[in-house]
Amino acid sequence: MNAQDSPPIIIIGAGPAGLMAAEAALAAGAPVTLCDAMPSPGRKLLLAGRGGLNLTHSEPFDRFLARYGDRAPALQPYLTAFGPEQLRHWATELGIDTFVGSSGRVFPAELKAAPLLRTWLRRLKCAGLRMAVRHRWLGWNDDGTLRFATPDGEVALAASATILALGGASWPQLGSDGGWVAKLAERGIAVAPLAPSNCGFDVGWSEVLRRRFSGAPLKPVTLSFAGARVKGEATITESGLEGGAVYALSAPLRDAIAAHGAATLRLDLKPDWSEERLRLALAKPRGSRSLSSHLARSADLTGVVAALLYEVLNPAVLADAARLAAAVKDLPLTLIAPRPVAEAISSAGGIRFDEVNERLMLRRLPGLFAAGEMLDWEAPTGGYLLTACFATGRAAGQGAAEWVSAARSSSTPGDRPGESR
Ligand SMILES: Cc1cc2nc3c(=O)[nH]c(=O)nc-3n(C[C@H](O)[C@H](O)[C@H](O)COP(=O)(O)OP(=O)(O)OC[C@H]3O[C@@H](n4cnc5c(N)ncnc54)[C@H](O)[C@@H]3O)c2cc1C
Repeated sequence: MNAQDSPPIIIIGAGPAGLMAAEAALAAGAPVTLCDAMPSPGRKLLLAGRGGLNLTHSEPFDRFLARYGDRAPALQPYLTAFGPEQLRHWATELGIDTFVGSSGRVFPAELKAAPLLRTWLRRLKCAGLRMAVRHRWLGWNDDGTLRFATPDGEVALAASATILALGGASWPQLGSDGGWVAKLAERGIAVAPLAPSNCGFDVGWSEVLRRRFSGAPLKPVTLSFAGARVKGEATITESGLEGGAVYALSAPLRDAIAAHGAATLRLDLKPDWSEERLRLALAKPRGSRSLSSHLARSADLTGVVAALLYEVLNPAVLADAARLAAAVKDLPLTLIAPRPVAEAISSAGGIRFDEVNERLMLRRLPGLFAAGEMLDWEAPTGGYLLTACFATGRAAGQGAAEWVSAARSSSTPGDRPGESR
């Protein structure tokens, strides 16, 4: 049987990981069908485009790799083969120029995902990709074929190898709902529970703060937790706090809340002022002015910043210049719960790395590969998420194509060890 007569490699999930897996498998000469539950591919990629599509990061590779924390060793081979540099080169070849922003983050010149996705899909179709949208994977039939729910009823598809690139569980309305976890667990695959990553947190605001300040930005603010400090932006929400600086600390905050029931985040509400400057300003005589007007006039502590001080501090601290200055520079805020994974930017947890071999094939289910956010890693925002999805997608696509080709040659008489033509 030649390659064209055998069943295709079926990739399930047309996000960045699945699309890159398709590209790699097609490049190796394998026929590929890419299935997705949604009516069109790449919905989360398109959403990421609304924020400018932060593709990757330009920092030195060692620092880049360290962003994946204790999963850095597991991801290193894939990111070494296809990391930030290769990703930018790939985008350029696709006709999408990229640039490095002032933060070192890398974006497409047009700051959108749609042109990249459109051009990429066109190129994949020219390379022979078959797309099957509105195909929701349901698991396996007894004969090993893949079960899909489609608008025309359930269908069974045979695959020479299968790549799962089903994403995590954030923003389920875009297609990735984590429904795969139970299907793999039934087959004995160890999956770390999916948990919110790059997420907001609940604080439990007073009614006054919630009503008057939800949506208000804290900018700039420096947040600290467990020895890490991040200067950036945060936003007051109905129930707590979200935003880039919060997301950057979300993994240790989430884990601390899981372990202790709450976590204390420290806020520097005046990162550009020294504590001494604040203390001198706040110690100026207040005269007949109200405390609010004194905070505003002496140290420009107004709006949501002043409201937070009233929310957290007791009157004795508010009335003492030295203690107040110290609190503005180091305000403790108790976080009581992460927001649900459905609202998060990404998911932590997934298929454990000891379940897959170096080609991302499940050791217990030969011929089944996994890539992207459904593997057990997490990373902050900054382009690290997409880069690892592309890198693992590419490795799984290559791995599946090699596996199919090896299986085919070992079933060809004469190619089996000990047999002659
Ligand atoms: C608001 C937002 C902004 C973001 N911005 C950035 C950014 O700027 N930079 C960055 O690096 N990352 C960003 N991310 C994260 C990034 O988009 C994800 O990490 C990435 O899309 C994950 O890729 P994936 O291919 O693993 O999964 P996904 O993109 O989630 O794709 C999975 C696909 O699988 C399909 N699927 C799921 N279950 C089934 C099933 N049973 N049957 C068939 N199909 C199924 C889904 O429909 C989906 O198309 C952002 C995320 C969000 C939510």
